[in-house]
Amino acid sequence: MEQLDPTPISAEEFYEKISNYLTPRQVEFVREAYNFAAEKHAAQKRASGEPYIIHPLGVATILAQLQMDDVTLAAAFLHDVVEDTDVTLDQLSDIFGLEVAGLVDGVTKLGKIEYISREEQQIENYRKMFLAMAKDIRVVLIKLADRLHNMRTMKYMPVHKQKRISSETLEIYAPLAHRLGIYAIKWELEDLSFRYLEPQHYYELVEEVKIKRHEREAMVQEAMDELRHLCSDAGIRCEIQGRPKSFYSIYKKMQRDNKTINEIYDLLAVRVLVDSVKDCYGVLGIVHGKWKPIPGRFKDYIAVPKSNGYQSLHTTVVSSSGSPLEIQIRTFEMHKVSEYGVAAHWRYKESGGSKMPSSADKNVDAKMAWLRQLLEWHRDMRDPQEFVNTVKMDVFSDEVFVFTPQGDVVDLPFGSVPIDFAYRIHTGVGNSCVGAKVNGKIVPLDYKLKNGDIVEIITSKSSPGPSRDWINIVGSSQTKNKIKQFFKKERREENIVNGRDMLERECRRLGYDPDAMMTPDTLKEVASRCHLDGSEENLLAALGYGGIMLNTVMVKLVDIYKKAQRRNTTKNLSELLSELKPRVLKTNKASHGILVKGEDDIMVKLAKCCNPIPGDPIIGYITRGHGVSVHRADCPNVLANKEDADRMIEVSWNVQTDTTYKVVLRLAAVDQPGVMANIMTVASESKVNINSLSAHSNPDKTAFVDLGLDITSLEQLNYIISRMRRIKGVYKVERKISGM
Ligand code: MN
Repeated sequence: MEQLDPTPISAEEFYEKISNYLTPRQVEFVREAYNFAAEKHAAQKRASGEPYIIHPLGVATILAQLQMDDVTLAAAFLHDVVEDTDVTLDQLSDIFGLEVAGLVDGVTKLGKIEYISREEQQIENYRKMFLAMAKDIRVVLIKLADRLHNMRTMKYMPVHKQKRISSETLEIYAPLAHRLGIYAIKWELEDLSFRYLEPQHYYELVEEVKIKRHEREAMVQEAMDELRHLCSDAGIRCEIQGRPKSFYSIYKKMQRDNKTINEIYDLLAVRVLVDSVKDCYGVLGIVHGKWKPIPGRFKDYIAVPKSNGYQSLHTTVVSSSGSPLEIQIRTFEMHKVSEYGVAAHWRYKESGGSKMPSSADKNVDAKMAWLRQLLEWHRDMRDPQEFVNTVKMDVFSDEVFVFTPQGDVVDLPFGSVPIDFAYRIHTGVGNSCVGAKVNGKIVPLDYKLKNGDIVEIITSKSSPGPSRDWINIVGSSQTKNKIKQFFKKERREENIVNGRDMLERECRRLGYDPDAMMTPDTLKEVASRCHLDGSEENLLAALGYGGIMLNTVMVKLVDIYKKAQRRNTTKNLSELLSELKPRVLKTNKASHGILVKGEDDIMVKLAKCCNPIPGDPIIGYITRGHGVSVHRADCPNVLANKEDADRMIEVSWNVQTDTTYKVVLRLAAVDQPGVMANIMTVASESKVNINSLSAHSNPDKTAFVDLGLDITSLEQLNYIISRMRRIKGVYKVERKISGM
């Protein structure tokens, strides 16, 4: 394990260190930041009693070990001044520039996140929010370094704080460091957390490992010497290191695989660093030539890198002393990436250019590079969508993360308002929302939520429900749908109640028992026949709303009910129908363009009372020996009694274009000269044949005109009716329905 040297260094040592990779101008810039921070923090002390500045210096030192750029180092020195002193961001921006101020702002904001929930999903949300809020990868790096330095110096803290900070580190910070590939920080954070969370296990393990390592040291040393000679003989330039494994990873491995310390072989492993990939395989050949490899332990992460970009050859061999020895072989470059992750990446980018590393376009480049890295590194995430969200969030900032008062994180689309939050919590909360508090203060419902806001919804039981205006305020389409749903559903529930009521009354009127007839099964079947997705609720809602006629439903319901009762019924519909068949005339005229249960060879007559025409919803009535009488579905003469109901049958139109149908229009008009003439003119202009006409005038100067017309379609009829209605003096036009 490559470790970051935790030894505190002086400011002068620090400048010397960064002079190795920064220009004198850049070093000067960092020095100014240090001086500024030292002055502002002058009055403050750490818990240890030391001057506060040792903390920013410690943070900057970690970042310098990762060879971060001057802007990051300056921001590291200044990262606590806005939070802990009276310095403002504007001042920082004036003195050190927008970029430094932006990083400090980011770090300050991240510092304000409170990790309350311990639920796994919530922890993942915290991590996501962390990345989302950071916006710049360097903010995350500073924050990680900040946490690492705080963990290193935590011994002066009260125990309960040590535990809380340690579990937070283990849950949030170490996984982030892992994800960013910064193993040097990850391991140290884990080991420090382990030490504070489980001191007994930690110190026991440290002792055991120390002994084991000591036992193995001679063997490993011998192997390393041998390998060094062999490589040198082969002309391969290499650096060979003993690699101690982190305590926390040993501990986890022992727990996970239920192993004792004696069964963990890589407490001390050997790492060989070489110049090229070719040399990696060269060394591998030497290793396997010298010692016997243990089957199944060789892994080629150079040919197939790990999903987080890690590259190396791993093998375990049986050493000369007979015990297993793990050997890792990789190039120097692979090694840097494996230890410093995204930080190493950043550094390579910076050193690759000749410009000042802090230029703004570099920032964009780095962000994109980071996105690419994330794409590669997140491939191991279990849920691909999750991964996409995580990546999107940082780079495109299309999400906002807020808290419930209980500390749960809720992610919402960018631009969301408290209403979105309310509906996300629960639809009922949204529907009864009357106000909202953000961070303890009442806000308008169109307040745009910001990352880290604590949102509290004020609900009222007497709330009439959402306002239609909300649809234009809310930020998420999900919320919009829920609000729309509310309005549709509110009416819908009323409609369902009405529909059921109508149907029950009709059943009773016809002498049926509604409970026996309106079972969920029969209603479902009626709904299927009416193309309402077989849903009882759809059917009743449509009925209540008037989308479907009561008679239409009733006929189907009776039909289904009768079928179910078939055994008890003396005659069923098909028997009734077959009685009719022998009398049928197989001509279009006889069928009047009507299909009875899909058949066109059944004698049909159109009811004289209501004169249905094509386009009208219709139902059939099986007469006693005179074929099927077809009525309009809304004709009051059908279903007059229970016996009728048994004889109702489904019929449908199947019309030849030249067929005409008789319709009687009843017009109410003022009895004045010219009205009759105008009515006749409209009829003739509409090219429709008048087959009957009768007029009756009343003493009150009103007149009724019954006009019999030969009509080909409902369309034509509606056209004529609308023209008739426009005649001066005519105040009512309707289709006449006479008693049977
Ligand atoms: Mn700090």
